[in-house]
Amino acid sequence: MSATTDKADIRKMSLSDVEAAVLAMGEKKFRAKQVYEWLWKKGARSFSEMTNLSKPFREELEKHYAIHAIATDQVQRSLDGTIKSRFRLHDGHLIESVLIPVPADNRYTVCVSSQVGCSLSCTFCATGRMKRLRNLDAAEIYDQVVMVNAQCEEAFGHPLTNIVYMGMGEPLLAYKNVLESIDRITSADGLNMSPRRITVSTAGIARMIKKLADDAVKVNLALSLHAADDVKRNEIMPINEQNNLDTLMEALKYYYEQTRNRISYEYIAFQDFNDSIDDARLLARLCKPFPVRVNIIEYNPIDGAPFRKATEHRIDDFARYLREQGVMVTVRRSRGKDIDAACGQLANK
Ligand code: SF4
Repeated sequence: MSATTDKADIRKMSLSDVEAAVLAMGEKKFRAKQVYEWLWKKGARSFSEMTNLSKPFREELEKHYAIHAIATDQVQRSLDGTIKSRFRLHDGHLIESVLIPVPADNRYTVCVSSQVGCSLSCTFCATGRMKRLRNLDAAEIYDQVVMVNAQCEEAFGHPLTNIVYMGMGEPLLAYKNVLESIDRITSADGLNMSPRRITVSTAGIARMIKKLADDAVKVNLALSLHAADDVKRNEIMPINEQNNLDTLMEALKYYYEQTRNRISYEYIAFQDFNDSIDDARLLARLCKPFPVRVNIIEYNPIDGAPFRKATEHRIDDFARYLREQGVMVTVRRSRGKDIDAACGQLANK
């Protein structure tokens, strides 16, 4: 069901746009700042919540503008504490976010989506089968953080500590909106979170990685690498055909040199595909040009995909080899598998 209206979405307007609108309604300019604070700092979902504005002014706002807030559609809780939320957008599309709590490390991470579906068709990923329907706007990304933060407070008595753009979609193909959402999340007028707590994950679009460097965004960058040679990577990630490993390494080196931000590689271990010591050797080579952390991730099979997860034994050998080469490695056991919330499983199920 779609709830789209003809009214303009006020969260797509800049502060000066809102000021002009407020003046046109015969209100004082400072009222715009109040409206903006309600929208971005207090996360208001309706004009009626804006209680320091007069009722006639709120009604006037309501008449001309809409707040396209996302709404919770379904919440699933995993036995391991992971919580997956499905949200309905104002036009009826569905997206997912995942809260991954690690109380022992005092780490509460939300994985947010940046697009409805995804155009990149990685063969191991459920989202990639959905096709891209549209990009999320900044407010829709921001809403996921606000709503999952409230969920985190309620379930664990703790606010979110980390945000990863690793849900549905390729964040660097929704670039402008992703950057605007980061701005909202980190700004003192928004959630005031540190950009160091944010990681943007990309399947590897070299020119956009360079753009991120040129725009001097202070976030961590993760490359979904998953294979350390072009033949294998082409097989599982078609985007590699236009962005091969040489091109990506050059872009990442540039990113590191310009920003000194942290870079990590995500590497899903697939049995007998990319989990041998030869693969580890190739991967170690890609860790030399700049400091990088490798996160090895357990694979979560999805229906119809031709892969199985690597055995623990193979993953341990693989990680040991990398450590011997001086590479920083973390092995991530999968979270939220029982509710299809793990890496590559998000498909609005
Ligand atoms: S892994 Fe990421 S980039 Fe690849 S299809 Fe899935 S959502 Fe898109």
